[in-house]
Amino acid sequence: MKAGTIIPKQKGSLEIMDMDIPEISENEVLVKVKMLGLDGTDKELGNGLYGEAPKGQGFLIPGHESIGTVEKVGSAVNGISVGDTVVATVRRPDDCINCKSGESDMCIKGDYLERGIKGENGYMAEYYKEKQEYLVKIPESISEAAVMLEPLSIAEKAVKQVFEVQKRMVWQPKNAIVLGTGTVGLFAAMILRLNGIDVVSVDRTENNPIKDNIYSKMGITHINSMDTPIEELPAKLGKRIDIAVELTGSPKAVASALNLPSINGVLCLLSVTGESYSENIDIGEFNYNMVLGNKVVVGSVNSNISHFIKGVQDMASIESSNPGLLKSMITRRIRLEDFSYDMLSDREQIKNVIVMG
Ligand SMILES: [Zn+2]
Repeated sequence: MKAGTIIPKQKGSLEIMDMDIPEISENEVLVKVKMLGLDGTDKELGNGLYGEAPKGQGFLIPGHESIGTVEKVGSAVNGISVGDTVVATVRRPDDCINCKSGESDMCIKGDYLERGIKGENGYMAEYYKEKQEYLVKIPESISEAAVMLEPLSIAEKAVKQVFEVQKRMVWQPKNAIVLGTGTVGLFAAMILRLNGIDVVSVDRTENNPIKDNIYSKMGITHINSMDTPIEELPAKLGKRIDIAVELTGSPKAVASALNLPSINGVLCLLSVTGESYSENIDIGEFNYNMVLGNKVVVGSVNSNISHFIKGVQDMASIESSNPGLLKSMITRRIRLEDFSYDMLSDREQIKNVIVMG
């Protein structure tokens, strides 16, 4: 089979290699990959900033967002059959208490592996094999859109975290601000809408027909932060902000987001801002507002299989009320032979996907 490979921490090392189709054991499933989604982590892998090859292997098969068809099942596998459409999760647990409890996204030890990123081959290949416990079955109606189930699961976890944190009181959230309209940002806004919350999505773009269509179909308000700076949003909107979600990747936006939640509100930080950045923040004022306002700032990373399963339900629900809307986020389809990591720098695209085979 053909597989894309990179040498971790080496920019420009992408190669297509020929290798054997994986042999499955009795509790494993062989999956034929249909599509592979690419994101910011892939861009970092391509730029040699990140990544780890499996032990004893000089290269890594990248790719962690995929959808495929079951080609073969081991004799001990139950409930998954040849022909089923499946998505595989990404993180594989270590032996810490959270990982052992099925919450590898909450790992406290850091020895977890991640398919296509850290120490385990990913899905940029014609086939992969996986244990049944890491596979999620996908209904026919979302068999294409679910190539984005992994990024959706990141937003599912974040929203779940927000609601879990807020169980500390009587809480009836009405308004949310989502900073950032990349794939995960759009999904976070959509999930909040499914929860009946009014959502304002904020970014620095104007007239993106695909995003505009999503805002209009999902009832999301869009604001350009070039026109209304983030710190002016609460006054401009003139309503309580119960939830703010930050996913811009901009440390300056994070600094501005700290003051978005109203009394009893919550800010969820969801983007990684790699580089060091200093901003003059009045810690006295920040502390005063946090304490007197019962506010919470919560970080959220990764997701576990429960968030993938919730994601399938939410995708199916969006698909049934707005057929084709999710799929419209896949703005570029490429063949593996034509793929290069440079393509991921095109900011016009929402979701780049490699079509396998
Ligand atoms: Zn762990």
